[in-house]
Amino acid sequence: MSFSTLGLSQKVLSAIDAAGYSEPTPIQAQAIPHVLERKDVLGLAQTGTGKTAAFSLPILTLLERGRARARMPRSLVIAPTRELAAQVAESFETFGVNHKYTMALLIGGVSFEEQEKKLTKGADILIATPGRLLDHFERGKLLLTGVEFMVVDEADRMLDMGFMPDLERIFKLVPFTRQTLFFSATMPPEIERFVNTFLHTPERVEV
Ligand code: AMP
Repeated sequence: MSFSTLGLSQKVLSAIDAAGYSEPTPIQAQAIPHVLERKDVLGLAQTGTGKTAAFSLPILTLLERGRARARMPRSLVIAPTRELAAQVAESFETFGVNHKYTMALLIGGVSFEEQEKKLTKGADILIATPGRLLDHFERGKLLLTGVEFMVVDEADRMLDMGFMPDLERIFKLVPFTRQTLFFSATMPPEIERFVNTFLHTPERVEV
């Protein structure tokens, strides 16, 4: 199995080469074609399976089609912790080297000002923890009505950390027509209910 058969763009394929990945992991091989077909995806995968690239690679490819309206973010990734959000940002940076997308990392523990500057300039890709994202929204600095691709990473950890009400609020701020990619290592009933409410007939991939 090779990355070149999955439908990813040339720019993304050459970044994969540069990163030294030789073949897709099972979650990547299963999820990437569904994402490129514009399907919602429910991915059951643990950390270490390559799930980050399973969403970053196809999103970078899809962002090549179309363009931002009024500098609004087109892609939003929600992660439970600062560390995980930073890892996701690294993945978008590594595989987005051949693109000119702008990115903002909205996490707690750092000042609002730097993050607001980035938002004002316009960020194509937002990577955020739930609380900090909503803080920015409440300060009136963020519009999510241009979001086309929405990712939830490690949903079961968000549940453990009490973030589900925040996550629900965020889902109500993005367009109904978005494409959602939702990753969780386990499927407790609360997560199952959330998926049934907010995803549109998702393809389920499991490793
Ligand atoms: P993740 O599950 O996304 O946290 O990824 C776990 C680790 O596997 C990270 O260090 C990635 O850089 C690495 N990785 C992901 N996909 C591949 C791949 N196709 N080939 C080699 N390494 C990979």
